[in-house]
Formats: sequence, structure tokens, C-alpha cells
Amino acid sequence: MSANGTTTPARSAEPLNAADAVAYLNEYKRGDGLSLSELMDSRKNGGLTYNDFLMLPGHINFAAHEVSLQVRVTRNILLNAPFLSSPMDTVTEDRMAIAMALHGGLGIIHHNCTAEEQAAMVRKVKKYENGFISDPVCLGPDAVVGDVLSVKERLGFCGVPITATGKIGGKFLGLVTGRDVQFCKADLPLKDVMTTDVVTGNAGLTLEQANTIIRESKKGKLPILDAAGNLVSLVARSDLLKNQNFPLASKVPSSKQLYCGAAIGTRPGDRDRLALLVEAGLDVVVLDSSQGNSMYMIEFIQWIKKTFPGLEVIAGNVVTREQAAQLIVAGADGLRIGMGSGSICITQEVMAVGRPQGTAVHAVSEFASRFGVPTIADGGIGNIGHIAKALSLGASAVMMGGMLAGTTESPGEYFYHEGKRVKLYRGMGSIEAMEHTQKPGSKPNTAANNAATARYFSEGDTVKVAQGVSGDVADKGSVHKFAPYLYTGLQHSLQDSGVRSVTALQEGCRDGSVRFELRTASAQLEGGVHGLNSYTKRLFA
Ligand code: GDP
Ligand code: GDP
Ligand code: GDP
Ligand code: 5GP
Repeated sequence: MSANGTTTPARSAEPLNAADAVAYLNEYKRGDGLSLSELMDSRKNGGLTYNDFLMLPGHINFAAHEVSLQVRVTRNILLNAPFLSSPMDTVTEDRMAIAMALHGGLGIIHHNCTAEEQAAMVRKVKKYENGFISDPVCLGPDAVVGDVLSVKERLGFCGVPITATGKIGGKFLGLVTGRDVQFCKADLPLKDVMTTDVVTGNAGLTLEQANTIIRESKKGKLPILDAAGNLVSLVARSDLLKNQNFPLASKVPSSKQLYCGAAIGTRPGDRDRLALLVEAGLDVVVLDSSQGNSMYMIEFIQWIKKTFPGLEVIAGNVVTREQAAQLIVAGADGLRIGMGSGSICITQEVMAVGRPQGTAVHAVSEFASRFGVPTIADGGIGNIGHIAKALSLGASAVMMGGMLAGTTESPGEYFYHEGKRVKLYRGMGSIEAMEHTQKPGSKPNTAANNAATARYFSEGDTVKVAQGVSGDVADKGSVHKFAPYLYTGLQHSLQDSGVRSVTALQEGCRDGSVRFELRTASAQLEGGVHGLNSYTKRLFA
């Protein structure tokens, strides 16, 4: 008799055949290890986080590169990679947001700056890649070379169509590109340098047809004209190359522009800020609060849904079902989960409020999934395994601060600390971020534009109580290498678990076919490198 009272098939010295193997396994009635709900029973196991458990291996009958990491990060936005960068002033500005989107993720631009500065960053991301550029920068024939150079300085490109009105919709007269103005005086009028014999496309072409003309004509820009010869849009050769080099890029299907996210607070002034961001092309707004279940956030979500119905809203942060319910009712399209789990965070220590991140992600995601609202596990991600576990607990994506700080694309300069090349990384609730100090070139803090103060304090506070620390992190190289490492590593993790996609992983967790095991303290030690005199840890090559 076996432990659960069924009859064991006869033992034999013969090798185990497949039918007997199934019979032996069926004897246990359920799989080895624990189901997700058994694992996350906090009455029995307490509040857990990523290091407290492991996934058990599944069966592999597919290659790792076949694993799909496509996820829905809000109700209406699909990403090819479940990676977001945190809205922190040492993590995400335009450069990080562009790199994250090119690799299939999403960058959330911080708001510890003026509304204008933040909107300019959003605009740069939205201008970075396009299909048909429907609002290309145009100039009139009497504008001068200096005007083109200033476009280059501000927006990074200098292929400018010249129209009679100096605007889109005007009669197309010619084209000025980098080479036309390279050796010219700044006051030369453009009518004297523009090329007038230009290959153009007719309005109504598909993007594919436009791309073919660009490929065959070998030109850098293709102005698209209507029957009367007026400019309707522009297509750039460099976008073909970007599309080829970054096949996972997160793009708006209709425009091929990169998705861009930005964070704001929930103060009255943030309404004006949001209007500027939306005008710059923002796709997703993150309402940034360490405790999202407030009347301010609920009213703000309702206002956004009325005022900008096309904008996706990620609300938070939350760690309980009750908090989540309030924000889902208000209309949130996604939820950000985490309180006190960030690597720079001292909230749990100081406020005694928060929740172990694994338990928080599981409780909130399980609840939100019933209403079709995706969740983002924010904070505490320190390696690829943590990402896989956050997804297994039900999050659609992870948000990373410390993991992405110290990359080439994070804001700030490298410096040396005790012989190591590092960059500054600080919590948005650290005194340094609230006073807006330390960052090279930062403006003196005013309460009006200081997001960190707004996130963590009330106007009435006379003392600032820190909820984060300021420090530094090691140089991690470029996101262009690091993001592919995360992507490939995660594919291998899912392959080991025996699932072909994030969706299959989450289905397997729900139906009990993906199994887990709790890790004791000594199991955790065993799972790390141990017993060596010294070693080097190179994460990818
Ligand atoms: P995709 O190639 O998987 O993006 O397929 P789509 O159906 O979205 O693309 C349709 C056409 O647009 C194809 O010819 C693509 O090469 C092209 N395309 C896709 N993305 C871009 C882009 O960002 N810019 C330009 N100019 N063309 C693009
Ligand atoms: P250029 O030759 O200096 O114009 O620059 P590239 O062709 O190398 O790059 C232009 C990039 O900027 C492409 O990815 C375009 O999609 C993007 N872009 C966005 N808005 C505009 C615009 O208004 N005009 C131009 N020329 N490019 C734009
Ligand atoms: P690049 O981004 O500076 O390499 O620009 P292009 O390859 O678009 O253009 C190079 C030169 O060719 C410039 O002097 C253009 O004005 C000129 N040119 C001549 N005919 C055309 C045309 O049909 N399309 C484009 N894009 N440029 C043309
Ligand atoms: P990390 O990825 O470094 O572990 O955590 C990043 C996350 O920590 C951010 O996305 C944000 O939610 C949170 N965070 C950022 N700054 C602070 C802070 O000063 N205090 C607290 N409590 N959380 C912070």
C-alpha cells in the first residue's frame, strides 16, 4: 500500500516501461511538489518572496528560442518582453525608454523634473522610430540652414521637407538633408540648397510599398504627396533599418512609433503636466504613489478616463486585493505591485507597512486577473530567476530599478568608488532625491516640480522622513546587451519549467501543472555558489 492508500503496481526487476511509469505517478493523485495555491497559502507558509521558493522542472519538447515572452502589460498594450524600467531619476529618461522599447519592453520616464523637460523626453522617444511620419518637421523655402541645424540639435534628425507654407499639407517644393547643409553658412536660405528633383510616393501607398521605393531608389527619405502635390507624410530609410535590427520593438501598430510611458503624481498640478505629456504622444501613464489606495488616485484615474480616454493608466502601488479593487473600479488598465520591496527602499523598516513581494504579487494578480487587469511586479528584482518567479506568481511584467541603474542608458555619469566603476542609484524617497541634489546638472529643488517630495510627503510636513537610500551600483554595460541577456535567460527559465510562453506558464500555475517547492534557509544557501575559495561571476558573454 502506498501512503495515500492506493495499491502500488507490482514491483519488478525489469526496466520501468512507460505505462508503469504513468501508473506509479498516478498513485500520488497529484504532481510532485506544491501547486501555486498550496505554496502561497500565507496562513501556513507566511509571507513569501522570490528567494523563498523554486519552480520544479517540467518536460522539454521545444527549443528555448521558441519560447514566447509576449505579455499584455495593460488592458490594451502588448509587449514582446515583460520588462519595464522604473520611473526614477537615476534609471529612466529618454535614452533608457528608447532602449527598453527597442528590446520589446517599456520605459517609464520619471517626473523629478519640470513638466516641459518630461514632455521633451516623451517627444524624443515618440520621434525615434516611425512608419509614415504624419507630422514631419517642415520648413519654408525662406527658412535658413541654421534652422535645419537647430532641428538637428533639438530632435536629432535633419531631413526636412520644404513646403510653400513651411508646414505639412503645403505644396511640396523640395528636400533638405544633412548632406545639403553640411558645408553651408547658417544664413543661407533653404531654397538655395534644397534638392528639387526628389523621388516621392503617392498618398495611399502602403508602408510596404513605400519601403520598397526607399529600398530601390536608395534614398534616405521618401516624401509622400497627394494628387495636388501637397506633402502628406514622410518615410525614413533609417526606420527600415531599425525595424530590421530590433524585431521585438514595442511599437504602436498603426504608427510604428515606440511605446512610451511616463509617471506623474496625483496633485492638481499633475493634470497640466499630463496634458503636456499627452500632447507629446504619451501612450501609458503611471500614477506614482507608494500607497495607491487614496481618494486622490481614485479621482485622478476617473478624471484621466474622462479627459484622455485613449491613454492607458497604470495605477498603484498596491499589495492587497482590497487596494486593487478600489483602483480597478476607478478604471485602472494595469496595476503596479510592491511596497517596500525595492532595493533602495526602507519603507518597511520605517513605516512598518508593506508586504513580502511574492505574496503581494500573487494576491493582487490572482484578483486582478478576474477582471482582465494586468499587473506589474515592481521592486526587488535582482536576477532573471526573480523575473520568472514574478511571472509565475501572476504578474504580466516586472519593473526594474536597480537592475537597470548603472547601464550606459541610465541617467548620470560613471564615477569610481573604491576602485569600481559605478553610477549613482537612489530611491525616489531618499532625502537626496527629495532635495533634488547630487545629480550633475540638477536644478535646485522647488516643491512644485519635485516629484519625489510629492510621492512621499504632504505639503504640511515640516520634517522629511526618508523612505529610501542613495548609493551607487556597478557599471553593467549597455541595455543593448543587458536586455537580450534578460530575454534569452528568461526563455531558458521557461523552457526548464516546461512551458512555451508566459501565458502557458500562468495557465500551468492556475491548473496546478506547474509545480513549486519551498526553500529552507539552508536550501537557499545550497542554491547559491558555495565552498569556493574565490570565483568570478560573469553573467553573460
Ligand atoms: P513587421 O515587419 O513585423 O513590423 O510587420 P508589419 O505588418 O507591422 O509591417 C508592415 C510593413 O511595414 C513591413 O514592410 C515592415 O517592414 C514595415 N515596417 C514595420 N515597422 C516599421 C517601421 O518602424 N518603419 C518603417 N518605415 N517600416 C516598418
Ligand atoms: P536624418 O537623415 O538626419 O533626417 O535622420 P535619419 O533619417 O537618420 O533619422 C530620422 C529618424 O527620426 C527616423 O527614425 C524618423 O522616423 C525620425 N523622425 C521622427 N520625426 C521626424 C521628422 O519630423 N522628420 C524626420 N526627418 N525624421 C523624423
Ligand atoms: P542623407 O540622410 O544625408 O544621406 O540623405 P539622402 O540619402 O536622403 O540624400 C543625399 C543627397 O541626395 C541630398 O543632397 C539630397 O538632397 C539628395 N537627393 C536627391 N534626390 C533625392 C531624393 O529623391 N530623395 C532623397 N531623400 N534625397 C535626394
Ligand atoms: P528595485 O528594482 O531597485 O529593487 O526597486 C525599484 C522600485 O522601488 C521602484 O520602481 C519603486 O517602486 C520603488 N522605489 C523607488 N524609490 C523608492 C524609495 O525611495 N522608497 C521606496 N519605498 N520605494 C522606492
